[in-house]
Amino acid sequence: NSPLTEVDPEIAAVLQLELDRQRDYLEMIASENFVPVAVLEAAGSVLTNKYAEGYPGRRYYGGCEHVDVAESLAIERAKALFGAEYANVQPHSGATANAAVLHAIARPGDTILGLSLDHGGHLTHGMKINFSGRLYDIVAYGVDEATSRVDMDEVRRLAQEHKPKVIIAGWSAYPRQLDFAAFREIADEVGALLWVDMAHFAGLVAAGLHPNPVPHAHVVSSTVHKTIGGPRSGFIVTNEADIAKKLNSAVFPGQQGGPLMHVIAAKATAFKLAGSEEFKERQERTLRGARILADRLMQDDVRDAGITVRSDGTDVHLVLVDLRDAAIDGKQAEDLLHEIRITVNRNAVPNDPRPPMVTSGLRIGTPALATRGFGDEEFTEIADIIALALLPGADLDALRARVAKLADAFPLYPGVGPSGQP
Ligand code: PLP
Repeated sequence: NSPLTEVDPEIAAVLQLELDRQRDYLEMIASENFVPVAVLEAAGSVLTNKYAEGYPGRRYYGGCEHVDVAESLAIERAKALFGAEYANVQPHSGATANAAVLHAIARPGDTILGLSLDHGGHLTHGMKINFSGRLYDIVAYGVDEATSRVDMDEVRRLAQEHKPKVIIAGWSAYPRQLDFAAFREIADEVGALLWVDMAHFAGLVAAGLHPNPVPHAHVVSSTVHKTIGGPRSGFIVTNEADIAKKLNSAVFPGQQGGPLMHVIAAKATAFKLAGSEEFKERQERTLRGARILADRLMQDDVRDAGITVRSDGTDVHLVLVDLRDAAIDGKQAEDLLHEIRITVNRNAVPNDPRPPMVTSGLRIGTPALATRGFGDEEFTEIADIIALALLPGADLDALRARVAKLADAFPLYPGVGPSGQP
């Protein structure tokens, strides 16, 4: 028996059941991934015991000589990976990284221009009841109804009209690449700072398969747990010395107390792996998988059922499905796929007539399955399964059997338990 099973069998059971679920279901939530066992080991380590307020070499606690090494490695690796001069790797999550960014470069009451939540933006980009919407004066741009793409003319018009302090480029649900150079041009025209939130596509950037926002933006925030596939957490990079200084004090003591040193060590390992050839090859499979999925969902049988793909394809790791003209809504589609053991999330589409708990869309991502080992053949199979599942009268038993076959062929965390231990 493991120590956890001895001490707390109820929580041990949760861990085991969750591992079983991750193994048996095919994970297609666009923001999720599977960390390597090495990252699990670092994240589940004795570094969780250590207080280390401050930064490497400048701590407010004794005994930081070893955790300093871990944090310095994480910083150096983040800088190298994204071509940045400065990195802060302490944010506990993407949302706290974003709070620190605004804390560093704006003051409450300043105007912020970001992508609206229901057009694919994130809560921290100005949602009304989020800190961002409460503290700042938010103006939102959207996507064009016909093309589903951000309309840079609209961004420019809004920027000129509202003269924001900060312009945010970044998204949680958007299937295309943003034009960072054009965003910077607009920011310069109106005297705004450009903040890019690359939480979703950072892994693609690290692999050189997506434009790098760092040369264009004043500041770039990210999570580590989406396409990068590291521990749940955030980080921030910049090339501007004065902004770097403000960011450091915005994260600590502005935003947080003691950093999570076990997570920072795991981040360092994830950044190391993200510089490898294997990582690049995995991101290539991720992108090809998303394109295969989009292509299948644009075929006639799906289109005839009123189901469409936003922007007619994808450049990234996710596909946005529009169900406004379909017989099922977002919630029903999510439940249907859950029944055949595919996990996705429902997602609002622009101008969604349904409430956020129901929605008229699905966001389907390929990073986790690429990490599991899927290539073109398996993505072709899963794309067909999803397409057929969404059509009226689908044979769910047959589709569930096809899912099980794929899951069995690509075992997750073979030979280890829920903490990564043999
Ligand atoms: N920024 C973007 C663009 C995101 O999509 C997300 C997560 O969904 C976040 C920030 C927040 O990350 P976290 O959930 O770690 O707070």
